[in-house]
Amino acid sequence: MTSTTPTDPAPDDWDGAEDAPGFATRAIRVGHRRTGESEHSEPIFATSSFVFASAAEAAARFAGEQAGNIYSRFTNPTVRAFEERLAALEGGESCVATASGMAAILSVCLGLLKTGDRILAARSLFGSTTMLFDKYLARFGIRTDYVPLSDLSAWETALERDGERRTRLLFCETPSNPLTEMVDLRQLAALAHRHGALLVVDNCFCTPALQRPLALGADIVVHSATKYLDGQGRCVGGAVVGDRKRVGEEVYGVLRTAGPTLSPFNAWIFLKGLETLELRMLAQSRAAAELAEWLQRQPAVERVHYPGLANHPQHHLVGSQQRTGGAIVAFAVRGGREAAWRVIDATRLLSITANLGDVKTTITHPATTTHGRLTPEQRAETGIGEGLIRLAVGLEDPADIRADLEYGLNLPNHQVE
Ligand SMILES: *Cc1c(COP(=O)(O)O)cnc(C)c1O
Repeated sequence: MTSTTPTDPAPDDWDGAEDAPGFATRAIRVGHRRTGESEHSEPIFATSSFVFASAAEAAARFAGEQAGNIYSRFTNPTVRAFEERLAALEGGESCVATASGMAAILSVCLGLLKTGDRILAARSLFGSTTMLFDKYLARFGIRTDYVPLSDLSAWETALERDGERRTRLLFCETPSNPLTEMVDLRQLAALAHRHGALLVVDNCFCTPALQRPLALGADIVVHSATKYLDGQGRCVGGAVVGDRKRVGEEVYGVLRTAGPTLSPFNAWIFLKGLETLELRMLAQSRAAAELAEWLQRQPAVERVHYPGLANHPQHHLVGSQQRTGGAIVAFAVRGGREAAWRVIDATRLLSITANLGDVKTTITHPATTTHGRLTPEQRAETGIGEGLIRLAVGLEDPADIRADLEYGLNLPNHQVE
């Protein structure tokens, strides 16, 4: 199997760009092996299977004695191009693409965990991730305990209370959704390793353009490519990046056998998305930072959560861990749900949707959508109040985004539409 892992390129046709120091160069160039047709853009290999020159060659491929494609559940050249490009951007040895972000997280768990293992996770996680851990993995005897993301001593205490169970994985997203809380990844990785565990980071919000968890000590990065890697809200996909043994063999083995593989068409869209990833992340971060500053000055706004603001509790990690504050801004308005809904409903330009990572700016009310399934106590504990609004800032003219919010923020309190 090792001879056909997705990131095992034949050295003779390697294009050399993977060693380029420039992030943008790797994002544009890595992974494409030009075919005999001399195409400039990456081709889509829309084929389920591949043919062999002879029965002996088929036998050698199936036996793993000869590298090469067999079937698109195992490998596909377009999917492999995306995997190689993302591996080069995250700085990982291996990458495995998956049908969705959730399939990436599931595949990591299936590949690396067994009954009796324990996951220690941050309390603020993407809702389906929590559901996967608590409802499904729990059925197979894998328990998950939760700690506050940025509280390193809480992680440490929970690790020390391990008891009979073996904590195999630490799992987090940083910055968190929607409050943009951050954890020091260098310290968390060191803590995981001291306790014989692996650190898995969902790098969805920053992408490798802003943050490279593997370089900070994390063992595995997972992605929902659906968000910023695509960047234009077109399709669903995911990826796992890490070392050759765990990702290239163990996680890949799950993909190859269980089949949550990425389609070549979606892989091609993500390849195009990666080409502009850095440009988009920097421009969207710049617009988000401007908006956050402006929101802070609005009388109707109680509090703004944005890593780039000096009053953010983990502001010191901007620059040392993540390159910018990112493109997500959360803010609380005075007047609770009624006031928050009024701001959302007064927008004409912004999209009212729970998705993020698009060039189109999106606006959400977390307490009644993405975090609606939490009990009021859980929401209070995680700080997601009724007045909170989340913006995922896109690429429109920032002045237009501001004007769209300004109208709702300035409506008098009694004026309910
Ligand atoms: C969207 C998202 C996921 C899940 O990804 P899908 O592609 O929707 O399966 C996981 N983690 C985070 C942080 C997300 O935003």
